Amino acid sequence: GIADIGVTGMGVMGSNLARNLARNGYKVAVHNRTPQRTGAMIAEHGSEGQFFPSGPIEDFVRSLSTPRVAIIMVQAGAATDAVIEQLATHMDTGDIIVDCGNAQYEDTRRREAALRERGLHFVGAGVSGGEEGALLGPSIMPGGTKESYDRLGPMFEAIAAKAPDGTPCCTHVGPDGAGHFVKMVHNGIEYADMQLIAEAYDLMSRVLGMSAPEIGEVFAQWNDGELGSYLIEITAEVLRHTDARTGKPFVDIVLDQAAQKGTGAWTVQTAAGLGVPTTGIAEATFARSLSGSVAQREAAQGVLPAHTTPGADGVNEDDRAAAIEDIRLALYSSKMIAYSQGFELIRTASDEYGWDIDLGAMARIWREGCIIRARFLDRITEAYERNPQLPLLIADEYFAGEISKSVAAWRRVVAKAVGAGIPVPAFASSLSYYDGVRSPRLSAALIQAQRDFFGAHTYRRVDVDGVYHTNWSGDRREERQDG
Ligand code: NDP
Repeated sequence: GIADIGVTGMGVMGSNLARNLARNGYKVAVHNRTPQRTGAMIAEHGSEGQFFPSGPIEDFVRSLSTPRVAIIMVQAGAATDAVIEQLATHMDTGDIIVDCGNAQYEDTRRREAALRERGLHFVGAGVSGGEEGALLGPSIMPGGTKESYDRLGPMFEAIAAKAPDGTPCCTHVGPDGAGHFVKMVHNGIEYADMQLIAEAYDLMSRVLGMSAPEIGEVFAQWNDGELGSYLIEITAEVLRHTDARTGKPFVDIVLDQAAQKGTGAWTVQTAAGLGVPTTGIAEATFARSLSGSVAQREAAQGVLPAHTTPGADGVNEDDRAAAIEDIRLALYSSKMIAYSQGFELIRTASDEYGWDIDLGAMARIWREGCIIRARFLDRITEAYERNPQLPLLIADEYFAGEISKSVAAWRRVVAKAVGAGIPVPAFASSLSYYDGVRSPRLSAALIQAQRDFFGAHTYRRVDVDGVYHTNWSGDRREERQDG
């Protein structure tokens, strides 16, 4: 075969990735289960580069130069397993199968191990940026062996988004499921970022009585500062958009029930399993669940009427400007917490699975192409350059300084929201996390005492070494349990 690389699965994502590769000068084999779809893609875009369409999958494999590289872009789960099997049957030792779908990292680990047994490389690659990213330059997070990256990496780096300094938003993340893991955490952080923005919007709307377009202006201004990011930018656009049907602000006519495709929930489940407190992502995920709990919301509204919010009355211009700045600082602080927690999750998994992930590099490849692209990511890269072993992102000198400057405002915002009866789960829990992680002594001492009381789970003491149990049901004498 002569094609440099192949893509199977000509859905939106697959055809856009194939077109991106072809425009970058690669010879791209293309395939789809239903051949008409391949035909339609070629009819529409065949002139954009050198494509090699195939009907049967064995012809697709044969059209690839060795060692072969075949990208799968189909639904996660059973469809991906089926396509892997079809490709593997026709491949030879050293060939590379790449899954660019949104697979669970455990599935990727399983598939990688199984294909390694058969002499094939399996790369789970996270791809972020949606349809447009796939076509014009996504952020790509490939796992798998170093050897497979030597072959695949240059092609992925060519088609990836480029940061302002020209660096491609793609790097070898680590072995087996590392790439899909990092993509999952990226999506979790995206949930947290969106929820924080939504809480800031809600406070401006309901406490400050601002209209959607006014709030849109505020977000547009924030986009020029430290918060500058894709999500802030699109928020400004959305808030300034008018509904054609009613003439009302668009956001006001959208039903307030947020959907989810599951990556937030995976992140939360994984974090719970690994014991990493990713409260920002968890609150964001559950806030979406609460919005979609229609029967519960209806039941509550009958008997638990909404708190009367103060509205804009009596808020003068200066007070309003100060309140907006407070909200900006609360958003910025909570965002630092969410990222700090997300990076801690990546580090913990990296240690657990022996992935050796470079955390600074993850922030670097998220600077363009992906949904959470943000100015702020440069600060994260710098923090890990200063100290690659940094145990906690917000303990870095830059972040610690930024949070210290914002914390008074952050407290005012949370207190105001609580007083006004406006839910701010992500702002408030991030503040509690901050107060917890920096607290010299935690109430966990009492939890340990309780556990020892009812379950003889033992405790350690602050003053002397050893593991102890108090005979609570008897004489209440303390006994050392270890040695
Ligand atoms: P589409 O729904 O547009 O396309 C689905 C593709 O999967 C079709 O080519 C379909 O083939 C193929 N397929 C489904 N089942 C099978 C099967 N059993 N055997 C062979 N082929 C099968 O999907 P998208 O392009 O939107 O997404 C593809 C993947 O990319 C998903 O894993 C998604 O999570 C991921 N992704 C999507 C993003 C997005 O923004 N949409 C962003 C990042 C990742 P056929 O035409 O024969 O039905």
